[in-house]
Amino acid sequence: MSTQPDIDILIIGGGIHGAGIAQAAAAHGFNTLLLEQTALGDGTSSRSSKLIHGGLRYLKTGQFGLVRESIQERQLLLKLAPDLVHLLQFHIPIYKQTTVRPWELYAGLFMYATFAGATQAALFHTLGSDEWDQLGGLRTEGLQKVFCYWDAQTDDRLLTQAVVQSAQSMGAEVKCPAQFMSAEREGDSYRVQYLENPGQADERELSLRCRFLVNTTGPWANRVLEKIRPAPTYLPMDLVQGSHILLPDEITDKAFYLEAPQDHRAVFIMPWYGNTLVGTTEVLYKGDPAKVEPLPQEIDYLLETYSTHFPGRDLEILDQFAGLRVLPSRQGKFFNRPRETIFHLNPAKDPRLLTVYGGKLTGYRATSAKLIKKIEKQIGKREEIANTAELLLSAPVAE
Ligand SMILES: Cc1cc2nc3c(=O)[nH]c(=O)nc-3n(C[C@H](O)[C@H](O)[C@H](O)COP(=O)(O)OP(=O)(O)OC[C@H]3O[C@@H](n4cnc5c(N)ncnc54)[C@H](O)[C@@H]3O)c2cc1C
Repeated sequence: MSTQPDIDILIIGGGIHGAGIAQAAAAHGFNTLLLEQTALGDGTSSRSSKLIHGGLRYLKTGQFGLVRESIQERQLLLKLAPDLVHLLQFHIPIYKQTTVRPWELYAGLFMYATFAGATQAALFHTLGSDEWDQLGGLRTEGLQKVFCYWDAQTDDRLLTQAVVQSAQSMGAEVKCPAQFMSAEREGDSYRVQYLENPGQADERELSLRCRFLVNTTGPWANRVLEKIRPAPTYLPMDLVQGSHILLPDEITDKAFYLEAPQDHRAVFIMPWYGNTLVGTTEVLYKGDPAKVEPLPQEIDYLLETYSTHFPGRDLEILDQFAGLRVLPSRQGKFFNRPRETIFHLNPAKDPRLLTVYGGKLTGYRATSAKLIKKIEKQIGKREEIANTAELLLSAPVAE
C-alpha cells in the first residue's frame, strides 16, 4: 500500500476563503481539493453586505492596516473582475444628532483617499444643499452636510463561484456537495473521511490522505476542529449575527451610510438588483450556524432606521437573510472588535493544520496569498504557475 498522501492540500469549506485558498494553492502548483457541504458561497459568503470596501468605520477603531490592505484589494478587484465588482458612490448624511462630526469624517475620508492613491475612487466631496433633493427623499430636516465618497459592490455568491472556477481552471478539484466528517493524523499527513452527496440516495463515504488540511468553514470552524484527532488547539470565538432586509425599488443608484437612530451604529442602504438592501445588525448567536435567521427585533431596527431617513417609502419586505461574523471572544461591544483575519496554525502541535477565523470578503485574495506562504513553510514549495494578483475573474457560467 502507498504511503504517499493522495493530495497536497485539502480545503474544507467553499465560502470566499476556501475559494481564495483553492485558487492560490492551485496557482502555486499544489495538488488541491476543496470540499463544500451544501453549495459554493452558501454560508456567510452570500449573506454579507456585498461591499468590496476599505471599511471607513475601521479607521475609528485604529485598524489602519486592515483599511489600507482592503482598499488595495478593492482597486485590484475592480481591475481583475470588472463584471463582478463595480464602483458605488456612497452618501453620508450628517444631522445635528449624528455622533460623528464633519471634521472627523473629513479626516477619515482624507486618509481613505490617501490609501486609494490617484484613482477615481479616491475622490470625495460634500454635496451642496441645492442637490439634496436628488437623494431619493432623504430626510432633510436637521441635515447639516452630506459627504460623498466611493467604494465598491459585488455579488458575493457569484464572486465566490468565480474564484472557484479560476481555481478549477488551474487544476484544483472541487467536490460539492461533499461534507468533511473527520480527520486523523498519520505521520506527516492527515487521513480524511468525507461524505459525497450527503443525505442523498447516492451518498457515499470516501477517504483520502492529504499533506495539509485547511479549515475555512467560517462559523463552523470550531465544530470542524472537534472532529480532528489528535484534538487540535483552537481559539475561542463568538458568532455574531448580522441581518439584512430587501425592500422594493431602488432609492437611487447610490448607497447611503447612515447612523441608526436607536444606537448610532452604522447601517448601509444600498441598491441591489433594482431593489434596496438595508443592513446590518449585531446579535450574539449560540445555535447551529446552518439555522441562523433574522430576528423580529433586527427587522424592526432596520425598518426604523430606513423609515427615519426615508419617510413615506414602501416597507414591504421582499427578502431577508442573516449571516454570522466570527469574532474573537472578549468583553465589550461587538462593533469595536477587530475584523482582521486570524490564521490559527500551531506548528509545534498541529503543523499540518491551519484554521481561518473571521476576515472580510474584500481581503480574500491577500489573505489567501499570505496563507499559502505559511503552508509552504510547512510542506515546501511547488512550481508556481500563476499569480493571483494578475488572474482575471469572470462571472461564473451556469452549469
Ligand atoms: C452580516 C455580514 C456582513 C458582511 N459584510 C461584508 C462586506 O460588505 N464586505 C466584506 O468584505 N466582508 C463582509 N463580511 C465578512 C465576510 O462576509 C466574511 O468574512 C466571509 O464571507 C467569510 O467567508 P468564509 O469563507 O470564511 O466563511 P463562509 O462563507 O461561511 O464559508 C464556510 C463554508 O464552509 C462550509 N462547511 C461548513 N462545515 C463543513 C463541512 N463539515 N464540510 C464541508 N463544508 C463545510 C459551509 O457550508 C460554508 O459554505 C460580512 C459578514 C457578515 C456576517
